[in-house]
Amino acid sequence: MAGPVHIEADVVVLGTGPAGMAAVSAAVAAGVEVVAVEAMPHIGGNAVWSTGYLAFVGSDMQAEQGIVDSEETFVADARAMVEAAEDQFGVECDEDLVRLFARESAETYRLLTERGVRFSRFIPRPKQHTVDRMAAVEDTWMLGRAFVPDFERATTLYGTLADRLVTEDGRVTGVRAHSADSADTEYLLTARRGVVLATGGYQSNPELRRRYQPGFVARAPYLGIDTCRGTGHLLGQAVGGDLMNMTFVPPLVIVSSSVVEDAIAVNEAGERFHDEAGPYEERVERLHAQPGRRAWYVVDDVVAREKEGLIGQMPEPPVQAATLAELAALIGVPAEALQATVDRWNAFLDTDATVDPDHGRVVLPPGRRRCATGPFTAVPMVEGVNFCCGGFRVTRDMQVVDVFGAAIPGLFAAGDCVGGLNPVSDLGGIHICGGLTLGRVAGRAAARGADDRSDHGTVLHAGMPSMLDTRIELVHLDPSATRA
Ligand SMILES: Cc1cc2nc3c(=O)[nH]c(=O)nc-3n(C[C@H](O)[C@H](O)[C@H](O)COP(=O)(O)OP(=O)(O)OC[C@H]3O[C@@H](n4cnc5c(N)ncnc54)[C@H](O)[C@@H]3O)c2cc1C
Repeated sequence: MAGPVHIEADVVVLGTGPAGMAAVSAAVAAGVEVVAVEAMPHIGGNAVWSTGYLAFVGSDMQAEQGIVDSEETFVADARAMVEAAEDQFGVECDEDLVRLFARESAETYRLLTERGVRFSRFIPRPKQHTVDRMAAVEDTWMLGRAFVPDFERATTLYGTLADRLVTEDGRVTGVRAHSADSADTEYLLTARRGVVLATGGYQSNPELRRRYQPGFVARAPYLGIDTCRGTGHLLGQAVGGDLMNMTFVPPLVIVSSSVVEDAIAVNEAGERFHDEAGPYEERVERLHAQPGRRAWYVVDDVVAREKEGLIGQMPEPPVQAATLAELAALIGVPAEALQATVDRWNAFLDTDATVDPDHGRVVLPPGRRRCATGPFTAVPMVEGVNFCCGGFRVTRDMQVVDVFGAAIPGLFAAGDCVGGLNPVSDLGGIHICGGLTLGRVAGRAAARGADDRSDHGTVLHAGMPSMLDTRIELVHLDPSATRA
């Protein structure tokens, strides 16, 4: 067999989801040669299949609507989120990274809108974002299309899997890769300035999830692209990268937020039991509290037709019936109760009230449209995962840090390959905008060859203690106690 195809560039970017697209874009803009490696046949990663909610801090869209936002407001929201999750997941948040995101995200909004991405409205989430800052993209494929001109100026190997990093004297100098359909075509990619890990998370790799999660949680279904197998995490780990928050794969009810906008959820009693659009963790807790953990999203025919694709992606198949009474019989809930629940919801939508009096819900159907046109559809609520939060510790240049706090020369990371920002992901809209925003920082830094060039092993990353510096309070050991 012939040897690997050798390609040389200044920057090599692995993965082309939001983080990779932004890294490619920034590196190309800096005027350097870029090679991107993508397992799939197109750019966009999970973002183009997602709901498309993006959180921006201090965006032009906020200013146009008179909404006042700031880095400090965002940091306060982020702190509240981390405090709520800390005990459950042992979460560690990198506040410097949260601040960097807050400062740079308005620029992301500007760049996207200049490139034709349109946002239709803010999605209110007052329990998470204390001001309106999470915007819904009109069409998620716009996010991919916005970066096509950058990819025309780079070399992209589609259908290709990165499988090893190449190092020389402790510096990452390249990548080995092979074609995804067979291992016949191998590549050796030399990176003169830097490699950016942007391969997304490890949520579609059950083996890797089992290392960090109890088995029954690791087996929970996943909705999303199946190439997020933690390759970047393993590649970086193999050269000493320090991972954080790896156990944090937040459980959620698998449903598109776009479906949630229109749906109500009912339990076996045919009654609503929570704020359907509330924090992800709260939704899971409320589902667990229902008898048999059984509940269904209910929508009418207008919504079922409009969101057929999103409903079809849910883990359990939908059931449909001409009337609410027949639907109730199909799913085994009392017909009068289901009718009364839908009537009460519709009566609320007919008013001007902005907050649902029963569960405090503020995310309402577009145009306050009622659940009124048969046939009616019910889809079982199933717990699973969409994304994970663990990844590398990084410097403010998004350079990967090793377990002793030293930046690894030549290696950068962004998006779901980074662990410090994602613990605040329950705010909503953080993963995509975080990838786009910090991916831009990573691409810029890699193009500059901006790594700390001090000797490998020097502690370069101020404020982030080496694992060796940590201490736990010891209970005094009394040798006499062991003699008996
Ligand atoms: C259904 C769904 C809805 C979501 N909704 C939202 C939302 O509304 N807002 C939000 O902020 N987040 C949302 N998310 C999460 C969000 O889409 C991801 O967290 C985000 O896209 C991560 O960006 P990324 O660039 O790090 O990785 P990804 O978007 O996951 O992209 C990673 C890319 O790397 C490629 N890749 C992986 N391994 C290799 C390899 N070895 N070699 C080459 N290429 C490789 C993959 O094919 C992929 O293209 C949603 C996720 C899902 C599944």
